[in-house]
Formats: sequence, C-alpha cells, structure tokens
Amino acid sequence: TISMIAIAKDGAMAAATSTNGATHKVPGRVGDGPIVGSGSYADSEVGGCGATGDGDIMMRFLPCYQALESMRGGMSPAEAAEDAVRRMVSKYPEVSSGLVVVDNKGNHAGAASGWTGTFTYSFKGGDMEETEVVEVPNIA
Ligand code: ASP
Repeated sequence: TISMIAIAKDGAMAAATSTNGATHKVPGRVGDGPIVGSGSYADSEVGGCGATGDGDIMMRFLPCYQALESMRGGMSPAEAAEDAVRRMVSKYPEVSSGLVVVDNKGNHAGAASGWTGTFTYSFKGGDMEETEVVEVPNIA
C-alpha cells in the first residue's frame, strides 16, 4: 500500500491510497483503498488520513473518516488514530490495520493492530529537508 497525505502551502490538503490489493483477492474485488473514508480521507479544515491492512474488515468502519471526525471533535492525531483502530479491534480482534493521521498543522501519528513486523510511515516537514521515519507499535 502507498498512502500519501499532502498539505499545500495554501493549507489545502489531499490524501490518496494505492494498493495491489489483498493477497489471493478474487478477480473484480474492490478493496478499501479506493473507498473514500476507508483507504484515505482529507479535509483541509481538519487533516488527512491514510490506511492499510485487512480491507474487507476496514472498509466497514471507514477508519479514515472516523479519525478525521474524531479530530474535528477535539482529539489529537494520536488519539484519533488509536480510537479508529480500537473501534475495529473491538469487533475484530485479529484485524490487521495501520493508520496514519495528520492534522492540518502537520502534527502526525499512527496506530496499528495485528501487524506482522512493524507498521512504519514517513513524514516530511514543511521545509522538505528531512524525512522522519516513525515506527508504530501494535495496540492489539
Ligand atoms: N488494504 C488492502 C486491501 O485489503 C491491502 C493492503 O494494501 O495492505 O486490498
């Protein structure tokens, strides 16, 4: 999966997710990646989100939309990411999921569950000079 969240100089935000899909997917399957609110979501007034994992479960929760609405309600990116993952884990304890959430100021965080290895994302700040690599531990 490749998810990207961008903040333009004028504050406009965009997010998108691309994936080759789940292993052994059936022909014609539409995963979570292209579903707005599941694979990605952005609202310049709040922030942006990208997601990967078990799309057949994740798409039922629109985790990126959920995370942004939680931030709109006052949660930090870390709180919103964790809350969105916990909502999925509470119904599907084995779900593999990874979320990256950034607010419209560039504060970012991730949350993950069921990941084999370590869910990792990278962040490039406004000066575009340095890339920060963030490892996100599983919360379940
Ligand atoms: N979320 C994708 C899918 O379910 C798989 C992935 O990119 O990890 O199709």
